[in-house]
Amino acid sequence: MSNAKVNQNINLNDYKGVWVIAEQREGQILNIALELLCEGRKLADKLNVELTAVLLGNDLDKVSNDLVSYGADKVLKVEHELLYTYTTDAYTKVIADIILERKPEIVLIGATTIGRDLGPRIAGRVGTGLTADCTKLEIDETDGKLLQTRPAFGGNLMATIICPKNRPQMSTVRPGVMEKAHYDKNRNGIVEAISPSLEENDIIAKVIDVVKSSKKKAGLIDANIIVSGGRGLGNKDGFELIEAFAEKLGGTVGSSRAAVDSGWIDHSHQVGQTGTTVRPTIYIACGISGAIQHLAGMSESDCIVAINKNPEAPIFNVAHYGIVGDLYEIIPAIMESIDNDTDL
Ligand code: FAD
Repeated sequence: MSNAKVNQNINLNDYKGVWVIAEQREGQILNIALELLCEGRKLADKLNVELTAVLLGNDLDKVSNDLVSYGADKVLKVEHELLYTYTTDAYTKVIADIILERKPEIVLIGATTIGRDLGPRIAGRVGTGLTADCTKLEIDETDGKLLQTRPAFGGNLMATIICPKNRPQMSTVRPGVMEKAHYDKNRNGIVEAISPSLEENDIIAKVIDVVKSSKKKAGLIDANIIVSGGRGLGNKDGFELIEAFAEKLGGTVGSSRAAVDSGWIDHSHQVGQTGTTVRPTIYIACGISGAIQHLAGMSESDCIVAINKNPEAPIFNVAHYGIVGDLYEIIPAIMESIDNDTDL
């Protein structure tokens, strides 16, 4: 990149504080921002430094105050009409400029569509590394460096990566993996308004229109109840039963990778290491064996129910409630008992 500023021979001690780039849509903080605030808070407390949320857009007063209630010590509120709609050029320029000026030691970004676009651009611009799609972050007790863990080699092993010579240490974090920060209206913090230096000419790609996808996405990340089907369904039609069951419970349909690979359901429903990581209140695994890669995406669910005809299936090792039997007998029986239970 022609205008990249490469940090050579930098003084690591000049860099202080943990930053979270807080994504919002039309004044609503995304869940990933709350997850980053929770994780960022832990890292900042370990390092004994401030946690700062960086918020870009327009008309951000309420969101800024909410970010303080969710754990930020400071919010950098950057408002500009050219930031109302996300563009790679504008967001990269504004965030990179503030990083170069204020020198945070850690910057966390959600591994959302926008975060995956933005993270590498900012890292390139400020001349540091980026560990993408992290699932675990820790501070090295010996030297205070950020230990960034993510699946590597197609998910076959977990790699822990450090950024020893450049700053900030930057990570994108997979949505749904970390806990969300809790709202505390009594928390105090500072909201600092920043006027960015931004002009039309800074934005090479112009957004003409924003069209919402008509494709039905699974919406797993925010689901409270997930009913997932696996290869044990035996065929594509089995998902009609899973959908009916999910609908009855007010839940969302998930799946194992085997079901996706068989062409029975879209990948957006896949739960697991190479799918979506979920933390619902109730996760019901139907005809899913419980391979390690599937467990990696759902084992943090509050309550796991497994329906499997094999009593030795590993899914029963993580299930809070296990039902051994044929899902084609058990699910209709549960649905019928829900219909007959007038108290429900
Ligand atoms: P199976 O393992 O075949 O299990 C089917 C289960 O259904 C069995 O336990 C069987 O007893 C039960 N069953 C059969 N018939 C019935 C019935 N009538 N009633 C009740 N139970 C029945 N997998 C994921 O899910 N998500 C991922 O993100 C993922 N990522 C991966 C990444 C890598 C790098 C690799 C190598 C693999 C990944 N996998 C992932 C695949 C994973 O290893 C397993 O192959 C997959 O999860 C198996 O899916 P399954 O449980 O549906 O099928």
